[in-house]
Amino acid sequence: MDLISIVVPCYNEQEALPPFYKEINKVAAHMDSVKFEFIFIDDGSKDKTLSMLKYLHKKDERVRYISFSRNFGKEAGMLAGLEAAKGDFVAVMDADLQDPPSLLPKMYNIVRNGGYDCAGTRRSTREGEPPIRSFFARMFYKIINKMSDADIVDGARDYRLMSRQMVDAILAMKEYNRFSKGIFGWVGFKTKWLEYVNTQRVAGETKWSFWKLFKYSMEGIMAFSTTPLYISSIMGFIICVAAFILACFYLIKTLVYGDPTTGFPSLVCIILFLGGIQLIGIGVVGMYLSKTYLETKRRPIYIIKETENSKEK
Ligand code: UDP
Ligand code: MG
Repeated sequence: MDLISIVVPCYNEQEALPPFYKEINKVAAHMDSVKFEFIFIDDGSKDKTLSMLKYLHKKDERVRYISFSRNFGKEAGMLAGLEAAKGDFVAVMDADLQDPPSLLPKMYNIVRNGGYDCAGTRRSTREGEPPIRSFFARMFYKIINKMSDADIVDGARDYRLMSRQMVDAILAMKEYNRFSKGIFGWVGFKTKWLEYVNTQRVAGETKWSFWKLFKYSMEGIMAFSTTPLYISSIMGFIICVAAFILACFYLIKTLVYGDPTTGFPSLVCIILFLGGIQLIGIGVVGMYLSKTYLETKRRPIYIIKETENSKEK
């Protein structure tokens, strides 16, 4: 009998957890040819999420939980869940029911019998999202796919069901700066995409502000592409050539017409322009350096405070 592990990162999800558990339980009850384990990761929630998970574990031994010592972010939560999962198949989904559990039987069937290693989901629409956010999201996917070899699908959610082989490949990627959308794409394997219409979360609020998303997208580009470094070098080269041509032009002009003191405004513009370019270049290098710095520290990606196996105090 196959075991399916469901990994659910939760951060302040006390309102969403009961309906989620009910829903997933219903789906699991219909799939009687497989066994389930539900691994909830309490990502340092400040509400009653953890005590709810403890309660669920008491009631239902398929429920496992991992509680972090503080908020480490969804990426860390997913990693902890994947590491803890014992299943032959592992699914990752959000606690807010934006990822419909009803797709699970179909996803399982695709990976089990359909010759795929992974069944992923993508939103066919971005309804219920501010238009400006959709615009930036689309741009981000265009840019990152141009820049990196990881195939990152527009609108792909983290909701997916994977084979053990693919999960092991993902776990072999030990990087500190984890960008799952990129990691999932980078490891390859055959993925079948299921589309579904975007739904609103059942309860609670999204944890993503525009600024957080922007930072996240920058991290994604940085983690899966070094193109920005090339761009700044190429820009530097082009400007050098332009400056040389300009210098020749002015030298000849001065020799022929001789009026040496005009051109102050253009000088200021050029200095400012070059200063800006240099700062951008240094900034880009700095960002990569900072990532390398964090990577070399080899800090743990998350710290576990307790799990269902730790002794009750
Ligand atoms: N989440 C988490 N840690 C965080 C932020 C979010 O574990 O620091 C979880 C959250 O509980 C939810 C999932 O990640 O299950 C997706 O979060 P959210 O619904 O806020 O994101 P959205 O669906 O809006 O992209
Ligand atoms: Mg959500």
